[in-house]
Amino acid sequence: MTDVIFDDVDKRYRQGDRQVHALRGCSLHIRQGEFFSLLGPSGTGKTTLLNLVAGFETPDGGRVTTGARPVTRPGRDRAVVFQAPTLLPWLTARDNVAQGLRGSIRSRSARRAAATEQLAEVGLADAAARHPYQMSGGMQQRVGIARALVMNPGVLLMDEPFAALDSYVRKEMQQLIVRLQRERAVTTVFVTHSVEEALLLSTRVGVMAAGRLADVFEVPFEHPRDVTSPEFNELRRTVLDRIAAGVRSERSGV
Ligand code: ADP
Ligand code: MG
Repeated sequence: MTDVIFDDVDKRYRQGDRQVHALRGCSLHIRQGEFFSLLGPSGTGKTTLLNLVAGFETPDGGRVTTGARPVTRPGRDRAVVFQAPTLLPWLTARDNVAQGLRGSIRSRSARRAAATEQLAEVGLADAAARHPYQMSGGMQQRVGIARALVMNPGVLLMDEPFAALDSYVRKEMQQLIVRLQRERAVTTVFVTHSVEEALLLSTRVGVMAAGRLADVFEVPFEHPRDVTSPEFNELRRTVLDRIAAGVRSERSGV
């Protein structure tokens, strides 16, 4: 059971002689197998929240737990996909994916076999021998996803993974995510600026405002989701309004 629980979490950063309160008593329970998206303007604490699950940062107050264990450091049970694919340029796609398995699989050929299989699952069966410079941005991001999934993580963390991709490739990536979610159902926390993307992919969508989860919306639609349906558009409007309300109350200091 890998659920993710935030219990009254505080996180502050020092910026010069100033303190920034990035998370203020943030509470959240993401259930096993959920795909939970975080929306909200820049600076509302989305990346901070993700980094706390990853174990890159530690809370100043409250608790973060995954799979009933408090998070204290990064671990192979939590995999991260960043906005820019951080592949090693001197390794092939296969070896980039196989790398993370060095701690868990002794045999090099077994690691490479697992990597090849994982690449096929993300649609890169024919690109295993390519180097990053021989791949498009979308392909590189697929390798990044394969590298995360091959670890069989309990939690998958994705921070605006498709923000740098053009809209056509982005749609392909969204379809990939929907398929992977159907097949694997890895508990996922996904940060995006796109309300449409969040509503396409997620079981629930959280709106961040000023370091707190201002609201959470269930997304009750079956896949494949129709972004042109009245229900979809109504929920899109509701979520957009909620984001705008957070911006307004922050401006007026409420
Ligand atoms: P988001 O991902 O929603 O844009 P972040 O979590 O990155 O928000 O940032 C929340 C706040 O914390 C912002 O005010 C940001 O400037 C600040 N912040 C984030 N990371 C650091 C850091 N490493 N050092 C100092 N301030 C930080
Ligand atoms: Mg961010």
